[in-house]
Amino acid sequence: MKDFDYIIIGGGCAGLSLAYELEIHKKLENKTLAIIEPRDEYKRDKTWSFWKIISHNFDDCVKKSWKNFSINVPNKTKFLECNKYPYQSIDSELFYKKVNQKLKQNKNINFFKNIDEINSKNSFIFNSVPELKANNNSLWQHFCGVEIETKNNFFDDEIMNLMDFDCEQRKSVHFFYTLPYTKNKALVETTWLSIMHDNSQKDYENQIKEYVENHLNLKEYKINYKEEGAIPLFYPSNKRAKNKINIGTAGGMTRLSTGYTFLNIQEHSKFIRENLENINKTKVFAIDKKYQFLDKIFLRVIKKNSEIMPDIFFKMFSSSSNNIIKFLSNKSNILEDFSIILKMPKWTFIKALFRN
Ligand SMILES: Cc1cc2nc3c(=O)[nH]c(=O)nc-3n(C[C@H](O)[C@H](O)[C@H](O)COP(=O)(O)OP(=O)(O)OC[C@H]3O[C@@H](n4cnc5c(N)ncnc54)[C@H](O)[C@@H]3O)c2cc1C
Repeated sequence: MKDFDYIIIGGGCAGLSLAYELEIHKKLENKTLAIIEPRDEYKRDKTWSFWKIISHNFDDCVKKSWKNFSINVPNKTKFLECNKYPYQSIDSELFYKKVNQKLKQNKNINFFKNIDEINSKNSFIFNSVPELKANNNSLWQHFCGVEIETKNNFFDDEIMNLMDFDCEQRKSVHFFYTLPYTKNKALVETTWLSIMHDNSQKDYENQIKEYVENHLNLKEYKINYKEEGAIPLFYPSNKRAKNKINIGTAGGMTRLSTGYTFLNIQEHSKFIRENLENINKTKVFAIDKKYQFLDKIFLRVIKKNSEIMPDIFFKMFSSSSNNIIKFLSNKSNILEDFSIILKMPKWTFIKALFRN
């Protein structure tokens, strides 16, 4: 069985981002890498969106970028601009194609379906398969999005809708998210923040149909593509071990209050590349403790006070849009943090701070 210097377990977003980062920085000219990925083929399965607050390697996989966004609760809409940090959407199909084309050119990189096909004893392992120990109180962001196409122009593709809470909440937090790629194509997603990771909220197709036809008032359209997912809003139990570090969701790269993970994965890949020669002795890369603490309290409020969450999110966005974007992207300073914290209902958050 063949030996490799490095093994990446899971050739998804984090695994491929890391392999690409190492390859373009020539870290694999004299080193070998095995990527363990069980899927038979790469096809479009996710849309990764985020405010572009840092540079990344995948600008050419961006399907659409917006400089304006909105958020609404029943009878109220807020319009915000994000000129400085545009909101970008990456199509996973373009990402997989770009990365795999690049990796194929290096004979030191090999793909395998199962780790048992190689000798892993002497390798350094980057693992992106999360160990999730969920219980009845674990919070999830679960969602389903469809790309719809209309015959005539229907959408305003200059502005995306981040959260529309004008929909039934069913004792959880529920909103729609609409990304208009063109005037006649948009991704419309129904999203739940909920501990009910069961079938009671998974009538996704009906929810989307009802929203598109009766809320957006769009009667004629076809569905080109569908994606479904569930992001754990708790940290997986993967531990760092000697000769092994966790990356991606498994490595705690998800911002728990939002589910945003993509840019954190990119930062982590860069960090690994910069410290590769000393990786065993390098500190664990993690989302800043400040955000971990604030998100913990925020998630307690979501669990106990779901009915006030639409208003809380709406109020949060009454801060300057740059402040809120920096806060949600883990890049805010203390003053910017306070500008957001002060918008929150104080007693609700203080109570959440002292109870588990
Ligand atoms: C549908 C969807 C949409 C999302 N949208 C956004 C977004 O808009 N913005 C954002 O920031 N984040 C988003 N996320 C969250 C996060 O960015 C993604 O989940 C991202 O793909 C996480 O990367 P990852 O490498 O950790 O996991 P994955 O991309 O899921 O990669 C894990 C890989 O491991 C493979 N694998 C599974 N089991 C094994 C095994 N036993 N051995 C080896 N390999 C295995 C899988 O086939 C997969 O390829 C989204 C998540 C989902 C599910």
